[in-house]
Amino acid sequence: MKLYLTTLREGRNEVSETLPPERLGLDDEVFTEPVTVSGTVEWSGDHADVRLHIEAPAHFACDRCAEEFDRPVTAEAMVQVLIQDPPDEEADDDEADGIVYAGRRGTNADLTEEIVDALLLEVPLRRLCSPDCKGLCPYCYTNLNEETCEHVGLEQPAPDEPRGETIADKLKKKQQR
Ligand SMILES: [Zn+2]
Ligand SMILES: [Zn+2]
Repeated sequence: MKLYLTTLREGRNEVSETLPPERLGLDDEVFTEPVTVSGTVEWSGDHADVRLHIEAPAHFACDRCAEEFDRPVTAEAMVQVLIQDPPDEEADDDEADGIVYAGRRGTNADLTEEIVDALLLEVPLRRLCSPDCKGLCPYCYTNLNEETCEHVGLEQPAPDEPRGETIADKLKKKQQR
């Protein structure tokens, strides 16, 4: 998403854009649909304060039962665009997040990286189809959200990582049965 500084009015500006996920370099198995970015830009002539709301439809596979589900990821980004040259390369490491340098004669600022960073922070590490997903039976790999099996009620290994198997291991074993 590019902000064209010469088109901004002094004060508050509304911005919105729909971005194809491939243009943001996002994982195309998770993000299959366009990402919506909308928000405001406060333009004061020498810098812009940008507040963005990001909404991305997303597709996951449950960590416990492997069922696929859709759940949007939403994020907020606050970016300050400065009409300055970026600091020296040596200082690059110290470059604060949330600041974009448009250059002293810059006419536009690319906010793509800030948008992607904000969005990726909100992608859940633990992906569950529902907080009380029952997962697969550790013995016969029945999806316990859908049906029960003769092992229900037996003392079971810890539900999340029975025998150290991953969900992929379990699915493989299920298919072999
Ligand atoms: Zn699940
Ligand atoms: Zn079972």
